[in-house]
Amino acid sequence: MYFEPKYECMNREALDHLKLERLQASLTRISKNVPYYRKKFQEMNIDPYDFDSLEDLSRLPLTTREDLARHAPYGLFAVPLREVVRLHGTYGLKDRSIVVGYTINDIHRWSVLAARVLTAGGVTKDDVIQVAYNYGLSTSGFGIHYGAEQMGATVVPASSGNTSRQISIIQDYNVTTLVCIPSYALYLADKMDEAGININALSLRTGLFGEETWSEKTRGEIQDRLKITAADNYAVSEIMGPGVAGECLERKGMHINEDHFLPEVIDPHTLEPVKPGEPGELVITTLTKEALPLVRFRTGDLTRLIHEPCACGRTFVRMQRISGRCDDMLIIQGVNVFPQQIGHILASAGESIPSYQIVLEREGRLDKATVLVEADVLVPDKIKEQQGFIESIKQHLAMELGVFFEVRLVELGSMLFEGDKVVPVVDKRTF
Ligand code: ZN
Repeated sequence: MYFEPKYECMNREALDHLKLERLQASLTRISKNVPYYRKKFQEMNIDPYDFDSLEDLSRLPLTTREDLARHAPYGLFAVPLREVVRLHGTYGLKDRSIVVGYTINDIHRWSVLAARVLTAGGVTKDDVIQVAYNYGLSTSGFGIHYGAEQMGATVVPASSGNTSRQISIIQDYNVTTLVCIPSYALYLADKMDEAGININALSLRTGLFGEETWSEKTRGEIQDRLKITAADNYAVSEIMGPGVAGECLERKGMHINEDHFLPEVIDPHTLEPVKPGEPGELVITTLTKEALPLVRFRTGDLTRLIHEPCACGRTFVRMQRISGRCDDMLIIQGVNVFPQQIGHILASAGESIPSYQIVLEREGRLDKATVLVEADVLVPDKIKEQQGFIESIKQHLAMELGVFFEVRLVELGSMLFEGDKVVPVVDKRTF
Protein backbone atom coordinates (compact mmCIF):
# COMPACT_ATOMS: atom_id res chain seq x y z
CA MET A 1 0.00 0.00 0.00
CA TYR A 2 1.23 3.45 -0.94
CA PHE A 3 -0.14 6.88 -0.13
CA GLU A 4 1.39 8.70 -3.11
CA PRO A 5 2.67 6.01 -5.51
CA LYS A 6 3.38 8.67 -8.12
CA TYR A 7 6.26 9.86 -5.95
CA GLU A 8 7.01 6.90 -3.71
CA CYS A 9 7.58 4.60 -6.70
CA MET A 10 8.99 7.18 -9.12
CA ASN A 11 11.78 5.93 -11.36
CA ARG A 12 15.16 7.03 -10.08
CA GLU A 13 16.04 9.15 -13.09
CA ALA A 14 12.83 11.19 -12.88
CA LEU A 15 13.31 11.43 -9.12
CA ASP A 16 16.84 12.81 -9.49
CA HIS A 17 15.52 15.35 -11.93
CA LEU A 18 12.78 16.41 -9.52
CA LYS A 19 15.24 16.60 -6.63
CA LEU A 20 17.63 18.84 -8.58
CA GLU A 21 14.82 21.11 -9.71
CA ARG A 22 13.53 21.47 -6.15
CA LEU A 23 17.03 21.99 -4.78
CA GLN A 24 17.73 24.78 -7.24
CA ALA A 25 14.45 26.51 -6.37
CA SER A 26 15.04 26.10 -2.65
CA LEU A 27 18.64 27.39 -2.75
CA THR A 28 17.58 30.41 -4.77
CA ARG A 29 14.84 31.23 -2.29
CA ILE A 30 17.14 30.69 0.69
CA SER A 31 19.82 32.89 -0.79
CA LYS A 32 17.28 35.64 -1.43
CA ASN A 33 15.53 35.47 1.95
CA VAL A 34 18.01 34.27 4.57
CA PRO A 35 20.94 36.67 5.08
CA TYR A 36 22.96 34.05 7.00
CA TYR A 37 22.96 31.62 4.07
CA ARG A 38 23.38 34.39 1.49
CA LYS A 39 26.60 35.46 3.22
CA LYS A 40 27.78 31.85 3.54
CA PHE A 41 27.15 31.18 -0.15
CA GLN A 42 29.05 34.33 -1.09
CA GLU A 43 32.00 33.41 1.12
CA MET A 44 32.10 29.94 -0.42
CA ASN A 45 31.66 31.21 -3.97
CA ILE A 46 28.41 29.37 -4.50
CA ASP A 47 25.94 30.78 -6.98
CA PRO A 48 22.58 29.10 -6.37
CA TYR A 49 21.50 30.01 -9.92
CA ASP A 50 24.42 28.00 -11.24
CA PHE A 51 23.83 24.94 -9.14
CA ASP A 52 23.22 22.23 -11.71
CA SER A 53 24.23 18.88 -10.25
CA LEU A 54 23.25 16.88 -7.19
CA GLU A 55 26.91 15.82 -7.08
CA ASP A 56 27.76 19.37 -6.00
CA LEU A 57 25.75 19.03 -2.81
CA SER A 58 28.87 18.47 -0.72
CA ARG A 59 30.14 21.93 -1.73
CA LEU A 60 27.32 23.55 0.21
CA PRO A 61 27.84 24.63 3.84
CA LEU A 62 26.76 22.36 6.69
CA THR A 63 24.22 23.65 9.22
CA THR A 64 24.42 22.65 12.88
CA ARG A 65 22.11 22.86 15.90
CA GLU A 66 24.43 25.59 17.21
CA ASP A 67 23.75 27.63 14.05
CA LEU A 68 20.02 27.27 14.69
CA ALA A 69 20.37 28.25 18.36
CA ARG A 70 22.60 31.21 17.49
CA HIS A 71 20.00 32.63 15.10
CA ALA A 72 17.02 31.79 17.28
CA PRO A 73 14.21 32.46 17.30
CA TYR A 74 13.54 33.61 13.73
CA GLY A 75 16.90 34.50 12.17
CA LEU A 76 16.95 31.60 9.70
CA PHE A 77 13.31 31.84 8.66
CA ALA A 78 12.87 32.34 4.93
CA VAL A 79 9.42 33.91 5.22
CA PRO A 80 8.08 36.76 7.35
CA LEU A 81 6.49 35.63 10.61
CA ARG A 82 3.01 36.58 9.40
CA GLU A 83 3.23 33.67 6.92
CA VAL A 84 4.07 31.21 9.68
CA VAL A 85 1.04 29.39 11.05
CA ARG A 86 2.72 27.08 13.55
CA LEU A 87 5.79 27.12 15.78
CA HIS A 88 7.35 24.06 17.33
CA GLY A 89 10.57 23.97 19.25
CA THR A 90 13.16 21.94 20.97
CA TYR A 91 14.15 22.68 24.52
CA GLY A 92 17.04 25.07 24.64
CA LEU A 93 20.55 24.19 23.67
CA LYS A 94 22.51 25.80 26.48
CA ASP A 95 20.23 28.77 27.07
CA ARG A 96 18.70 29.26 23.62
CA SER A 97 15.56 27.56 22.37
CA ILE A 98 15.44 26.37 18.79
CA VAL A 99 12.22 27.51 17.16
CA VAL A 100 10.94 25.72 14.07
CA GLY A 101 8.27 27.41 11.96
CA TYR A 102 5.80 26.01 9.43
CA THR A 103 3.78 27.82 6.77
CA ILE A 104 0.36 26.48 5.86
CA ASN A 105 1.98 24.71 2.88
CA ASP A 106 4.59 23.19 5.18
CA ILE A 107 1.82 21.84 7.43
CA HIS A 108 0.03 20.40 4.43
CA ARG A 109 3.19 18.67 3.15
CA TRP A 110 3.98 17.42 6.61
CA SER A 111 0.51 15.83 6.86
CA VAL A 112 0.96 14.10 3.52
CA LEU A 113 4.43 12.84 4.42
CA ALA A 114 3.25 11.52 7.78
CA ALA A 115 0.39 9.80 5.94
CA ARG A 116 2.98 8.13 3.69
CA VAL A 117 4.89 6.90 6.75
CA LEU A 118 1.72 5.55 8.40
CA THR A 119 0.65 3.82 5.18
CA ALA A 120 4.09 2.28 4.65
CA GLY A 121 3.94 0.91 8.20
CA GLY A 122 0.72 -0.94 7.43
CA VAL A 123 -1.84 1.55 8.75
CA THR A 124 -4.98 2.10 6.66
CA LYS A 125 -7.84 4.58 6.66
CA ASP A 126 -9.97 2.03 8.48
CA ASP A 127 -7.71 2.14 11.54
CA VAL A 128 -8.40 3.81 14.87
CA ILE A 129 -5.07 5.36 15.82
CA GLN A 130 -4.23 6.17 19.41
CA VAL A 131 -1.50 8.80 19.49
CA ALA A 132 0.24 8.46 22.85
CA TYR A 133 3.00 10.90 21.94
CA ASN A 134 3.24 14.22 23.66
CA TYR A 135 1.17 16.97 21.99
CA GLY A 136 3.25 19.97 22.84
CA LEU A 137 6.13 21.94 21.47
CA SER A 138 7.65 18.67 20.31
CA THR A 139 6.53 17.61 16.87
CA SER A 140 5.66 13.94 17.36
CA GLY A 141 2.01 14.10 18.43
CA PHE A 142 0.88 16.66 15.90
CA GLY A 143 2.82 15.06 13.04
CA ILE A 144 1.13 11.69 13.35
CA HIS A 145 -2.21 13.30 14.16
CA TYR A 146 -2.35 15.35 10.96
CA GLY A 147 -1.01 12.42 8.93
CA ALA A 148 -3.72 10.15 10.27
CA GLU A 149 -6.43 12.66 9.42
CA GLN A 150 -4.92 13.23 5.99
CA MET A 151 -5.29 9.54 5.16
CA GLY A 152 -8.83 9.46 6.50
CA ALA A 153 -8.10 7.25 9.50
CA THR A 154 -9.71 7.86 12.89
CA VAL A 155 -7.37 9.52 15.33
CA VAL A 156 -7.57 9.49 19.13
CA PRO A 157 -5.34 12.27 20.49
CA ALA A 158 -4.59 10.57 23.82
CA SER A 159 -1.26 12.40 24.26
CA SER A 160 1.37 10.98 26.62
CA GLY A 161 1.12 9.88 30.26
CA ASN A 162 -1.76 8.58 32.41
CA THR A 163 -1.29 4.89 31.71
CA SER A 164 -4.57 3.60 33.12
CA ARG A 165 -6.44 6.07 30.90
CA GLN A 166 -4.37 4.95 27.88
CA ILE A 167 -5.36 1.35 28.59
CA SER A 168 -9.04 2.12 28.91
CA ILE A 169 -8.91 4.07 25.64
CA ILE A 170 -7.33 1.05 23.89
CA GLN A 171 -10.21 -1.08 25.21
CA ASP A 172 -13.15 1.32 25.00
CA TYR A 173 -12.41 2.89 21.61
CA ASN A 174 -11.48 -0.39 19.91
CA VAL A 175 -8.09 1.08 19.03
CA THR A 176 -6.33 -0.79 16.20
CA THR A 177 -3.08 1.21 15.92
CA LEU A 178 -0.86 2.36 18.74
CA VAL A 179 1.66 5.17 18.24
CA CYS A 180 4.14 5.94 21.03
CA ILE A 181 7.77 5.53 22.06
CA PRO A 182 8.77 1.83 21.99
CA SER A 183 9.63 1.57 25.70
CA TYR A 184 6.17 2.89 26.55
CA ALA A 185 4.54 0.21 24.38
CA LEU A 186 6.23 -2.44 26.53
CA TYR A 187 5.28 -0.58 29.69
CA LEU A 188 1.64 -0.62 28.55
CA ALA A 189 1.93 -4.36 27.88
CA ASP A 190 3.24 -4.92 31.44
CA LYS A 191 0.45 -2.84 32.97
CA MET A 192 -2.21 -4.65 30.93
CA ASP A 193 -0.81 -7.99 32.08
CA GLU A 194 -0.86 -6.81 35.69
CA ALA A 195 -4.46 -5.74 35.29
CA GLY A 196 -5.31 -9.17 33.93
CA ILE A 197 -6.38 -7.84 30.54
CA ASN A 198 -6.55 -10.42 27.77
CA ILE A 199 -4.48 -8.80 25.01
CA ASN A 200 -5.78 -11.27 22.43
CA ALA A 201 -9.25 -9.84 22.94
CA LEU A 202 -8.18 -6.28 22.01
CA SER A 203 -8.54 -4.82 18.51
CA LEU A 204 -4.87 -3.75 18.29
CA ARG A 205 -3.14 -4.88 15.08
CA THR A 206 -0.40 -2.38 14.20
CA GLY A 207 1.94 0.03 15.90
CA LEU A 208 4.23 2.81 14.80
CA PHE A 209 7.11 3.55 17.12
CA GLY A 210 9.93 6.06 17.13
CA GLU A 211 11.60 8.95 18.97
CA GLU A 212 14.06 6.77 20.87
CA THR A 213 16.68 4.14 20.03
CA TRP A 214 15.29 0.62 19.91
CA SER A 215 16.40 -2.75 18.63
CA GLU A 216 15.10 -5.77 16.72
CA LYS A 217 14.86 -7.53 20.08
CA THR A 218 12.52 -4.82 21.40
CA ARG A 219 10.50 -5.02 18.19
CA GLY A 220 10.09 -8.78 18.65
CA GLU A 221 8.99 -8.26 22.21
CA ILE A 222 6.45 -5.54 21.36
CA GLN A 223 5.00 -7.69 18.56
CA ASP A 224 4.78 -10.73 20.82
CA ARG A 225 3.34 -9.00 23.81
CA LEU A 226 0.83 -6.71 22.08
CA LYS A 227 0.04 -9.08 19.19
CA ILE A 228 0.72 -6.39 16.58
CA THR A 229 3.16 -5.63 13.76
CA ALA A 230 5.53 -2.85 14.81
CA ALA A 231 7.12 -0.39 12.37
CA ASP A 232 9.91 2.11 12.94
CA ASN A 233 9.96 5.69 11.70
CA TYR A 234 12.40 8.58 11.80
CA ALA A 235 11.89 12.24 12.59
CA VAL A 236 14.14 15.25 13.22
CA SER A 237 12.49 17.94 15.31
CA GLU A 238 14.50 20.72 13.65
CA ILE A 239 13.29 19.60 10.23
CA MET A 240 9.95 17.90 10.66
CA GLY A 241 8.31 15.54 13.09
CA PRO A 242 7.25 12.08 11.87
CA GLY A 243 7.29 12.21 8.07
CA VAL A 244 11.00 12.23 7.24
CA ALA A 245 11.36 8.45 6.86
CA GLY A 246 9.47 5.30 7.69
CA GLU A 247 9.67 1.55 7.38
CA CYS A 248 7.68 -0.40 4.82
CA LEU A 249 6.42 -3.86 5.66
CA GLU A 250 9.67 -5.42 4.37
CA ARG A 251 11.18 -3.81 7.46
CA LYS A 252 14.70 -3.64 6.17
CA GLY A 253 15.35 0.05 6.66
CA MET A 254 13.27 3.24 6.54
CA HIS A 255 12.44 4.85 3.20
CA ILE A 256 13.42 8.52 3.25
CA ASN A 257 10.90 10.81 1.56
CA GLU A 258 13.56 11.80 -0.94
CA ASP A 259 11.39 14.07 -3.02
CA HIS A 260 11.36 16.42 0.03
CA PHE A 261 14.55 15.59 1.91
CA LEU A 262 17.97 15.06 0.39
CA PRO A 263 20.00 12.67 2.57
CA GLU A 264 23.77 12.34 2.77
CA VAL A 265 26.01 10.45 5.16
CA ILE A 266 29.25 12.10 6.24
CA ASP A 267 32.19 11.17 8.42
CA PRO A 268 31.47 13.21 11.57
CA HIS A 269 35.19 13.92 12.07
CA THR A 270 36.43 14.80 8.58
CA LEU A 271 32.95 16.04 7.49
CA GLU A 272 33.57 14.41 4.10
CA PRO A 273 30.86 12.24 2.51
CA VAL A 274 31.40 8.52 3.17
CA LYS A 275 31.36 5.93 0.38
CA PRO A 276 27.83 4.78 -0.61
CA GLY A 277 26.40 2.43 2.01
CA GLU A 278 29.04 3.18 4.65
CA PRO A 279 28.03 4.30 8.14
CA GLY A 280 28.33 7.88 9.37
CA GLU A 281 26.30 10.91 10.38
CA LEU A 282 23.04 11.61 8.58
CA VAL A 283 22.85 15.06 6.96
CA ILE A 284 19.60 16.34 5.45
CA THR A 285 18.86 19.17 3.05
CA THR A 286 15.20 20.19 2.88
CA LEU A 287 13.85 20.61 -0.66
CA THR A 288 10.39 22.03 -0.13
CA LYS A 289 10.23 23.58 3.32
CA GLU A 290 9.14 27.21 3.18
CA ALA A 291 9.41 28.66 6.68
CA LEU A 292 12.67 27.09 7.85
CA PRO A 293 14.51 25.50 4.93
CA LEU A 294 17.82 23.95 6.00
CA VAL A 295 20.94 23.27 3.96
CA ARG A 296 22.89 20.14 4.90
CA PHE A 297 21.60 19.94 8.47
CA ARG A 298 23.78 17.72 10.67
CA THR A 299 21.30 15.51 12.51
CA GLY A 300 23.92 13.95 14.82
CA ASP A 301 22.30 10.56 14.17
CA LEU A 302 24.47 7.66 13.03
CA THR A 303 23.15 5.43 10.26
CA ARG A 304 23.94 4.20 6.76
CA LEU A 305 21.99 4.46 3.52
CA ILE A 306 20.72 1.41 1.68
CA HIS A 307 20.68 2.04 -2.06
CA GLU A 308 19.57 -1.41 -3.23
CA PRO A 309 15.98 -1.57 -4.53
CA CYS A 310 13.33 -2.64 -2.00
CA ALA A 311 10.84 -5.44 -2.63
CA CYS A 312 7.94 -3.16 -1.60
CA GLY A 313 8.27 -1.21 -4.86
CA ARG A 314 9.21 2.12 -3.31
CA THR A 315 12.24 3.61 -5.04
CA PHE A 316 13.28 5.94 -2.20
CA VAL A 317 16.62 5.18 -0.60
CA ARG A 318 16.41 3.58 2.84
CA MET A 319 18.25 4.42 6.06
CA GLN A 320 19.15 1.84 8.62
CA ARG A 321 17.79 2.05 12.14
CA ILE A 322 19.69 4.75 14.08
CA SER A 323 22.67 3.15 15.82
CA GLY A 324 23.59 6.05 18.06
CA ARG A 325 24.58 9.71 18.25
CA CYS A 326 27.83 11.36 17.22
CA ASP A 327 27.39 14.29 19.57
CA ASP A 328 26.58 14.28 23.26
CA MET A 329 22.81 14.63 22.84
CA LEU A 330 20.88 12.16 24.98
CA ILE A 331 17.41 10.85 24.31
CA ILE A 332 15.66 10.41 27.64
CA GLN A 333 12.03 9.34 27.82
CA GLY A 334 11.82 10.25 24.12
CA VAL A 335 13.05 13.83 24.72
CA ASN A 336 16.32 15.29 23.39
CA VAL A 337 18.57 16.53 26.18
CA PHE A 338 22.10 17.94 26.09
CA PRO A 339 24.15 17.40 29.28
CA GLN A 340 25.19 21.09 29.24
CA GLN A 341 21.55 22.09 29.67
CA ILE A 342 21.60 20.41 33.06
CA GLY A 343 24.77 22.26 34.02
CA HIS A 344 23.10 25.49 33.02
CA ILE A 345 20.07 24.77 35.21
CA LEU A 346 22.28 23.81 38.16
CA ALA A 347 24.24 27.03 37.72
CA SER A 348 21.07 29.10 37.83
CA ALA A 349 20.28 27.62 41.25
CA GLY A 350 23.62 28.42 42.85
CA GLU A 351 26.64 30.61 42.35
CA SER A 352 28.61 28.29 40.11
CA ILE A 353 28.16 24.97 38.33
CA PRO A 354 28.83 22.15 40.80
CA SER A 355 30.27 18.86 39.53
CA TYR A 356 27.46 16.66 38.33
CA GLN A 357 26.90 13.32 36.67
CA ILE A 358 23.86 12.10 34.75
CA VAL A 359 22.98 8.46 35.35
CA LEU A 360 20.54 6.76 32.98
CA GLU A 361 18.97 3.41 33.76
CA ARG A 362 15.95 1.38 32.84
CA GLU A 363 13.41 1.07 35.63
CA GLY A 364 11.19 -1.69 34.39
CA ARG A 365 10.49 -0.55 30.84
CA LEU A 366 11.05 3.14 31.20
CA ASP A 367 14.04 5.43 31.35
CA LYS A 368 15.07 6.51 34.80
CA ALA A 369 17.25 9.61 34.89
CA THR A 370 19.20 10.74 37.92
CA VAL A 371 21.47 13.74 38.37
CA LEU A 372 24.16 13.31 40.98
CA VAL A 373 25.26 16.69 42.29
CA GLU A 374 28.39 17.34 44.31
CA ALA A 375 27.20 18.00 47.87
CA ASP A 376 30.26 19.87 49.12
CA VAL A 377 29.20 23.08 47.44
CA LEU A 378 26.22 23.21 49.78
CA VAL A 379 25.92 23.44 53.52
CA PRO A 380 26.34 19.72 54.24
CA ASP A 381 24.43 19.34 57.48
CA LYS A 382 21.32 21.40 56.86
CA ILE A 383 18.98 18.70 55.69
CA LYS A 384 16.01 21.00 55.23
CA GLU A 385 17.95 23.37 52.97
CA GLN A 386 19.34 20.48 50.98
CA GLN A 387 15.84 19.10 50.49
CA GLY A 388 14.64 22.50 49.28
CA PHE A 389 17.53 22.69 46.82
CA ILE A 390 16.79 19.21 45.49
CA GLU A 391 13.11 19.97 45.00
CA SER A 392 13.77 23.24 43.22
CA ILE A 393 16.30 21.58 40.86
CA LYS A 394 13.86 18.77 40.10
CA GLN A 395 11.15 21.26 39.25
CA HIS A 396 13.47 23.32 37.05
CA LEU A 397 14.65 20.25 35.16
CA ALA A 398 11.11 19.00 34.58
CA MET A 399 9.85 22.39 33.47
CA GLU A 400 12.74 23.37 31.25
CA LEU A 401 13.66 20.00 29.75
CA GLY A 402 10.36 18.15 29.87
CA VAL A 403 12.02 15.19 31.61
CA PHE A 404 11.58 14.06 35.20
CA PHE A 405 14.95 13.61 36.92
CA GLU A 406 15.78 12.26 40.34
CA VAL A 407 18.34 14.51 42.02
CA ARG A 408 20.79 13.23 44.61
CA LEU A 409 23.47 15.09 46.51
CA VAL A 410 26.58 12.96 46.79
CA GLU A 411 30.26 13.18 47.70
CA LEU A 412 32.38 13.96 44.66
CA GLY A 413 34.30 10.70 45.20
CA SER A 414 31.22 8.57 44.69
CA MET A 415 30.85 9.69 41.06
CA LEU A 416 32.45 7.74 38.23
CA PHE A 417 35.76 9.26 37.13
CA GLU A 418 37.92 8.91 34.06
CA GLY A 419 41.38 10.12 35.04
CA ASP A 420 40.75 13.25 37.08
CA LYS A 421 37.50 14.12 35.32
CA VAL A 422 33.94 13.25 36.29
CA VAL A 423 32.33 11.18 33.52
CA PRO A 424 29.41 13.45 32.48
CA VAL A 425 26.99 10.67 31.51
CA VAL A 426 26.75 7.10 32.74
CA ASP A 427 24.25 5.34 30.47
CA LYS A 428 23.34 1.88 31.77
CA ARG A 429 20.30 1.43 29.56
CA THR A 430 20.05 -1.45 27.14
CA PHE A 431 17.80 -1.18 24.13
ZN1 ZN B 1 10.31 -0.91 1.05
